[in-house]
Amino acid sequence: MNILLVHAHPEPRSLNGSLRDFTIQRLQAAGHSIQVSDLYAMNWKAPLDADDSIERRSGERFDPSLDSKNAYEHGLQSLDIVREQEKLLWADAVILQFPLWWFSMPAILKGWVERVYAYGFAYGVGEHSDARWGDRYGEGTLAGKRAMLIVTAGGWESHYGPRGINGPIDELLFPIHHGIFYYPGFDVLPPFVVYRTGRIDQARYAEICSRLGERLDELFSTAPIPYRPQNAGAYEIPDLTLRAEIAPGQTGGGVHVESAGEGAGPAGSR
Ligand code: FAD
Repeated sequence: MNILLVHAHPEPRSLNGSLRDFTIQRLQAAGHSIQVSDLYAMNWKAPLDADDSIERRSGERFDPSLDSKNAYEHGLQSLDIVREQEKLLWADAVILQFPLWWFSMPAILKGWVERVYAYGFAYGVGEHSDARWGDRYGEGTLAGKRAMLIVTAGGWESHYGPRGINGPIDELLFPIHHGIFYYPGFDVLPPFVVYRTGRIDQARYAEICSRLGERLDELFSTAPIPYRPQNAGAYEIPDLTLRAEIAPGQTGGGVHVESAGEGAGPAGSR
């Protein structure tokens, strides 16, 4: 299978650098083809701006969405963006790997998403009308592909537990999982998170690699997080709120995940 690894750490000799090398070797040993976007090594341009189009819309003010749409439709995107989109289309699975910085991904990786996820490619896909709000959340350009995070965090696992002070890890990663992966169609795998990175010796590193290796071996068999597809009946149209009879009284990101036992009938069907 084809796998794209997008890596965001400035230091090759870091923990993240070691885990990147381990990941590449493990996947190649299993017979997969790998492409790596090592964003710092590529000197990836993070800010989305007017230079992302080879040729601008004449006389118009820069509009991040409309300029992206125009560039995508007319083959006027900057070449670095085109190359990353081609990698995404080539891949059967995509892994984003990064240290948790201020409760999210490093800015360089956010910039990769903002620029590569063009209008017409990752959003603004499909029919948009009163009856249908596009192909997204389970449908879209990247549907049928898998995506997973490999994240390292300085905080302890308990700090990210259900009542931990940093907030539950699932809630922290929800914008990436649901907003960046599921939105353009990916099936989203549970993340691989390394906690308490300040306390890593050779024994712990070996144990981390062992667990990561298992996850990589199961990349194409692990069950995805069962997010609810937008266009299968679970949401009121056009409000796009979850129907009142599903997860009644509950709110927050967790309501967009089907719970065990659901799945029968139009509201829960996938
Ligand atoms: P490194 O610092 O490179 O390594 C960590 C440890 O692993 C070191 O002890 C190193 O010796 C050891 N190691 C590395 N490679 C190997 C190897 N091959 N074999 C054995 N041992 C090895 N943390 C949070 O929890 N939440 C946050 O919001 C957060 N925000 C941050 C914001 C910033 C700007 C920064 C700089 C840090 C932040 N942190 C936060 C901490 C951050 O998540 C960790 O520093 C990071 O995940 C560690 O990853 P690294 O690759 O940089 O590790």
